[in-house]
Amino acid sequence: MPADAMHSTRALTEALVSRASVTPDDAGCQALLAERLAQAGFDIDWLPRGDVSNLLAIRGEQGPVLLFVGHTDVVPSGPAEAWQSPPFEPTIRDERLFGRGCADMKASVAAFVTACERFAGGPDDGGLRLAIALTSDEEGPAQDGIRAVAPLLPARLGPVDWCLVGEPSSSRDLGDTIRVGRRGSLSGEIIIDGRQGHVAYPDQADNPLHRLAPILAELVNSEWDPGTADFPPTRLQLTAVDTDTDAVNIIPGHATARFNLRYSPASSADGLRRRIEATVTTHAPDSRVRWSHSAEPFGSPPGRLREAVMDAVHEKTGHWPIANTAGGTSDGRFIAPLGAEVVEFGPVNESIHQVDEHIDLAAIDALSDAYEAIIRRLARNAPSVD
Ligand SMILES: [Zn+2]
Repeated sequence: MPADAMHSTRALTEALVSRASVTPDDAGCQALLAERLAQAGFDIDWLPRGDVSNLLAIRGEQGPVLLFVGHTDVVPSGPAEAWQSPPFEPTIRDERLFGRGCADMKASVAAFVTACERFAGGPDDGGLRLAIALTSDEEGPAQDGIRAVAPLLPARLGPVDWCLVGEPSSSRDLGDTIRVGRRGSLSGEIIIDGRQGHVAYPDQADNPLHRLAPILAELVNSEWDPGTADFPPTRLQLTAVDTDTDAVNIIPGHATARFNLRYSPASSADGLRRRIEATVTTHAPDSRVRWSHSAEPFGSPPGRLREAVMDAVHEKTGHWPIANTAGGTSDGRFIAPLGAEVVEFGPVNESIHQVDEHIDLAAIDALSDAYEAIIRRLARNAPSVD
């Protein structure tokens, strides 16, 4: 293979896809990347936690910091027979690369590395410190990955100015959408006790569903906040309603309901909890609510990174991207509290986590070109440091 092809983003993406790195197993992806990054002048720091592999690579001594955040782990393939080609054998069909993780997010990781390789030693090099944080625990519990690495960054990097997350943000075409934040996620379970009995003798029982029903009606009809410029209004979704019986002639003794809120920064988790508990207590004073708060919302106001990403994406893909905060949460939530401007830009997310996950071959190179253009813009416009 000629050196050019070996160093192509596509070849690196294929090499990563062929490593079956199902969470939390990195399967050698990061070692391969570390070798490439070391050759491009990065210092490599291994920060493993338990079964999880974490890599921090840093290049440059001075200037503002651009941190790229990515993951090498993938979700399981599901039954391999359901795939048109084996999930961990990178396969080209119809100008597309197929394989588990190619879009979420091995092409992004490969593209960022090849973008850094082309930037290193070039005319714009020197104005920027580049850092790459990779984990094999993004698709899993996400406890030992970027959540654990983030608190170590200030000592190793100083302040992080900009953070580019390579999650697949695009919806139909590469670059049509970027993310400038993510909503928070708060889940709850309402538990109401009653007294079991025969439906024909309701006076001898106490039906907890009759107290739960008006609570749920109130919750689904509530408006929580109007949203913000970048965030849609907070929404509550019921996810389960259950009792301890399934017979048609029994009044249940217990009833539970579960719900999730995806919330904007116009609300706080505490405020939402208080409002919901007040509603629950009004209709069912003896009930309780169990909470699980999995993510705070985060969002970055328009800054130099967003500007660089918009311009670079337009130059390389022709799109002026929509900047929104849709989708589940991302590892950007652990970097935003460090004060960094966080933007997510990556491939089309249509096939992620599905059988026959794929990415257009043209998008792999375009992604690397766009990442390089982002790096160059930030390096050129970086305030000079003395
Ligand atoms: Zn991902």
